[in-house]
Amino acid sequence: MSRIFCIANQKGGVGKTTTCVNLAAGLAGIGQRVLLVDLDPQGNATMGSGVDKRTLGHSVYDVLLETASIPEAKVRSDKGGYDVLGANRELSGAEVELVALERRNERLRTALKAVDADYDFVLIDCPPSLSMLTLNGLCSAHGVIVPMQCEYFALEGLTDLVNTIKQVHANLNRDLQLIGLLRVMFDPRITLQTQVSDQLKAHFGDKVFDTVIPRNVRLAEAPSYGLPGVVFDPASKGAQAFVQFAQEMVARVAGELPADTAAGSPV
Ligand code: ADP
Ligand code: MG
Repeated sequence: MSRIFCIANQKGGVGKTTTCVNLAAGLAGIGQRVLLVDLDPQGNATMGSGVDKRTLGHSVYDVLLETASIPEAKVRSDKGGYDVLGANRELSGAEVELVALERRNERLRTALKAVDADYDFVLIDCPPSLSMLTLNGLCSAHGVIVPMQCEYFALEGLTDLVNTIKQVHANLNRDLQLIGLLRVMFDPRITLQTQVSDQLKAHFGDKVFDTVIPRNVRLAEAPSYGLPGVVFDPASKGAQAFVQFAQEMVARVAGELPADTAAGSPV
């Protein structure tokens, strides 16, 4: 059975794609079977996995419109060691096309059910909005991983996201939980970041992951080589942090109680 996680934050440039690609490679590196789903028409996670978005035969767009299955549409990231359901500009049209279709929120969920036995982890890279695409992601997932920078406005945006998760949990997907907040691009020398980090821990407790991802230029350089940072420079501080995060995720999933997520609060 696969565990399905959305990497979501409605702000752009907060590290969603970097988290998705490097967590995928980190998990693959410790023997997990991983599918990365790119739900952002920008296709950054696709390109960052070494898959050319311009030459995709099928993409997540075809899966949402049910003109292809995931086994038909997936491609392999050889360097990353995981499968990719890619995205490109075509996906921006899906938003409009889905509105007229039935089960529009559940298309991805249905497609993922068919490959449930093939993967240990499915990671969904969401676009920077709370759109129909993000909703498809949230309706498919067991949990949400929220990468965030420890800045003042980060906390403000978090309230909206937490409310969205609560609403999806109440109305569309009883499995959905906020799994955790991942502090990214962290620089402990900046006092404000340390303060916001402390506030996060005070407010969200163990919903804040132990692993902290530092600001590290090697992580930013890796996509231009079509490689996850974990593969591009395994010795870098950023790569090592993502490997540690992959281990933390495996431990969390192993420690989860199987039943009863529907009964509790999602956040
Ligand atoms: P999002 O998907 O939320 O828009 P990205 O993952 O694309 O965010 O990250 C935004 C930018 O920040 C990218 O240029 C990326 O390379 C850079 N970046 C992300 N995480 C780090 C990090 N830990 N250290 C340095 N640069 C980072
Ligand atoms: Mg992105």
